[in-house]
Amino acid sequence: MKTVLIVTRTFGRYSPDPIELLKSNGLNLEWSDSLQLESLRKADAIILGTGKLTGEMIENSSLKIIARHGVGVDNVDLKKATEMGIPVTITPNANTVSVAELAIALILALSRKIIDAHRDLSERKKFSSPVGVELFGKTLGIAGFGAIGRETAKRGLCLGMKVIAFDPYVDGETMRQYSVEKVDFDTLFRTSDFLSLHLPLNQSTRKMIGKREIEMMKKTAFLINTSRGGIVDEMALAEALKENRIAGAALDAFEVEPLPEKHVLYDCPNLILTPHIGAHTYEAIYKMNMMAAQSVVDFLNKKLPRHIVNTEVVAKLLEQGFSQ
Ligand code: NAD
Repeated sequence: MKTVLIVTRTFGRYSPDPIELLKSNGLNLEWSDSLQLESLRKADAIILGTGKLTGEMIENSSLKIIARHGVGVDNVDLKKATEMGIPVTITPNANTVSVAELAIALILALSRKIIDAHRDLSERKKFSSPVGVELFGKTLGIAGFGAIGRETAKRGLCLGMKVIAFDPYVDGETMRQYSVEKVDFDTLFRTSDFLSLHLPLNQSTRKMIGKREIEMMKKTAFLINTSRGGIVDEMALAEALKENRIAGAALDAFEVEPLPEKHVLYDCPNLILTPHIGAHTYEAIYKMNMMAAQSVVDFLNKKLPRHIVNTEVVAKLLEQGFSQ
């Protein structure tokens, strides 16, 4: 009997369907809170959340497929997986709307100081009168005009915002079709009132937003990151918030997760922190659960799974008799 190791907080938690899908295909399920070599040595497949699957772990495992529960693959040693002919799959679009809605929720919370107002009243019984800003007529800047960036842009336009975007891999015509203006990197930082990040974490984006970029932002601007920690230099952001160099920020993703108990970000004014909840809606979780389970089932039934990221392995799988 083949074993599927599940290392993600939300798999099968709110619906029995994904578990049923795996079990009805004769698979044995093992659950773990963290990535341990002992379990990896016994697993044929893994359904993986955001835990870091290193090259060493992959090399010493018996894994034949890595099914990411989500879209980012920055936590998987893709090179090693590819070297070993192991397909890595993702669940594209399953959480696109959920993350875009969180970005908009954070923008609204920042613009109307909702968290501070709530704390004043509920914790201090203080009927304070924080003054916010309207979104109408303001400029929403999007860094990374992919699936989530586009959904966020659509919602910004519905709120009467002007939307600009920076993405070297998407042309101006495509952006125009979304009523979005393509701008260069520096213009994005100089012009945005709300700057929302929807970038993958890779060599080109790591620490992409540091002191220089934050200094280019308006003093009245807000930075929202629902993509990946590591893209924003957290120390530079903390410093800027403490010195009121920008109006505020909201972060859903961090360089180290969970965020360590002692961290400079806890002491920053005008900063909203959420614990990587972008994809945490029942709808997104269901779709991610089912897509990840289907990838494993397809693979173990010798069918090429959909949404393989390291496409270099496909030819080899076809040679081994996998059907398309
Ligand atoms: P996507 O691949 O559809 O879009 C990413 C876009 O970024 C692409 O259009 C690409 O051209 C662009 N890009 C790549 N490198 C760039 C660079 N150097 N400068 C500017 N643009 C660049 O991905 P997506 O589904 O929209 O996801 C975006 C991010 O959101 C990913 O990092 C993903 O991991 C993250 N995410 C977070 C959560 C969460 O829970 N907070 C959930 C899902 C996804």
